[in-house]
Amino acid sequence: MSIDLFERGGDLRERADVCVIGSGGGGAVAAAELAAAGLSVVVLEQGHHWTSRNFTQREEEMLPRLFEEAGMRQTADGGVIVLQGRNVGGSTVHNLCYAFRTPPAILEMWRTEHGLPELSDAAMAGSFARVEASLKVKPILEHEVNTPNRLIRKGSEALGYSGFVTNHNRENCVQAGYCILGCSYDAKQSMLVTYVPTAEAAGARLYASARAERIEVSGGQAHRVLGHAVDAAGRAHGTLEVEARVVVLAAGAVASPDLLLRSGIANSSGQVGKNLHLHPSIMAAGVFDDEIHPYRGIPQSYYIDEFIDLERDPHRGYVLMPITGFPILTSANMPGFGRAHYERMRSYSRTVGLLALLHDASAGSVEPGKSLSKPTIRYALEPNDALQLAEGLVHCVEVLHAAGAREVLIPYHDEPLVLAPGDDLAEITRRGVKLGEIPVASTHPQSTCRMGGDPATSVVNAFGESHDVPGLFVADMSVFPTSLGAPPQITTAALADRTARHILDRWDELGPSA
Ligand SMILES: Cc1cc2nc3c(=O)[nH]c(=O)nc-3n(C[C@H](O)[C@H](O)[C@H](O)COP(=O)(O)OP(=O)(O)OC[C@H]3O[C@@H](n4cnc5c(N)ncnc54)[C@H](O)[C@@H]3O)c2cc1C
Ligand code: SF4
Repeated sequence: MSIDLFERGGDLRERADVCVIGSGGGGAVAAAELAAAGLSVVVLEQGHHWTSRNFTQREEEMLPRLFEEAGMRQTADGGVIVLQGRNVGGSTVHNLCYAFRTPPAILEMWRTEHGLPELSDAAMAGSFARVEASLKVKPILEHEVNTPNRLIRKGSEALGYSGFVTNHNRENCVQAGYCILGCSYDAKQSMLVTYVPTAEAAGARLYASARAERIEVSGGQAHRVLGHAVDAAGRAHGTLEVEARVVVLAAGAVASPDLLLRSGIANSSGQVGKNLHLHPSIMAAGVFDDEIHPYRGIPQSYYIDEFIDLERDPHRGYVLMPITGFPILTSANMPGFGRAHYERMRSYSRTVGLLALLHDASAGSVEPGKSLSKPTIRYALEPNDALQLAEGLVHCVEVLHAAGAREVLIPYHDEPLVLAPGDDLAEITRRGVKLGEIPVASTHPQSTCRMGGDPATSVVNAFGESHDVPGLFVADMSVFPTSLGAPPQITTAALADRTARHILDRWDELGPSA
């Protein structure tokens, strides 16, 4: 079991072959693979080690406990909410278990446009197979498709749209539906119940409530990580110092560039913190006559890919996916005040949400903010991306109407749009999508330490190693060269698996022991 550095008190001085920063979708994989191969591994995780015993299925308790900035992290102008986990297991503890390999057309684009011929289908195949086996990826069965997903499939099929029931990483799922708040049944195969215990069983020393704040370079090599024990509010207490031959940075696409910029390293390209893609998503809410109880059952199982054709154009498109709604999150996104808001919430248990999620070309940035817990995230939508999102909203409304919704709400903050079947949907494109005027969320921030063959335009090479600092690797979603255009957890894990194997292959060249 991990040691909680804040609860233990005092300072930490450690020495290891490898220091892994972050225990989420990428970090846990790297830690487990490296420890299993016999290296001494220290993992630093800023969040607490919560387990299924602590997951109460209550939003007001879980959001502050498990999410960055209590689930209220947002871009500097407040235009996009950015949801990220802050706990052992990272965002995989909250994710919704869609499990997709990297689309082949995206890998092809990364090879040809980003100088990464090493990312061949054959080279990735072993990593995909290993992580899928560890995460127990399998198809969602017909009886596991819940009512909102069935309705969305019905609407999509009535319109002749392409869609399918996806793979997921759950085992013995009781279909409780609380995935976003942490699975109380250990059915979700997040890092918390897969790679983290594997890493610990192989001898990795995991420190929770341990925030890395600076990576030091000596003799041109990454060699030391400095930071503090932190409490739940992110306040610094005892100090920590880990000397290591190799540092694997896997703090996620917001914290990883923040840490590199604060350390003043690995940025000869000027690209650290740039190229932020968010997969921004926007919701339409269909109100049905019958009780649906949208929070029951596996939240996302159907996936509409009618409006993305990566083989034809790997740079654009959007997908439609159902979204689960708990009372607090739903009411926060529901427009209106007082009586109007109350009336809308009365239809809560008859409401089905459908998201348009964009494969974005828009590129934002991350830079250090006033506090270590609050980096500055900037993001603006390019006109073509805003157009695509508006078009996506139109299709969400069509699908919900075709599924039988008697009205669909588009939650513009000032003047929500309520559309009955037969209404003119062109009003959506007339209003468009402007950040700040309608709720927009991101659960997939990525690409802020992007991978590429050219050190002048990228931060890490095809194996996640910094172009500038030997022995410094990045193994999280920040390495994606572009927006992925698909759910990212398997790509993140597979690239981290590959990075770990590369470290093992090159171990003898990676500098003197710490
Ligand atoms: C609500 C939600 C739903 C999602 N649904 C899906 C889905 O259905 N399918 C899918 O494929 N993907 C989904 N994802 C995305 C998926 O979870 C991510 O792809 C994956 O977790 C990314 O891994 P990562 O290592 O980049 O970051 P994370 O998993 O976020 O891990 C980063 C870790 O680093 C820690 N950390 C940060 N800063 C520091 C520091 N300074 N020192 C020490 N530790 C630090 C954080 O606390 C965190 O634990 C979803 C994400 C969310 C939030
Ligand atoms: S739906 Fe399954 S995986 Fe999600 S919280 Fe419920 S039991 Fe866990």
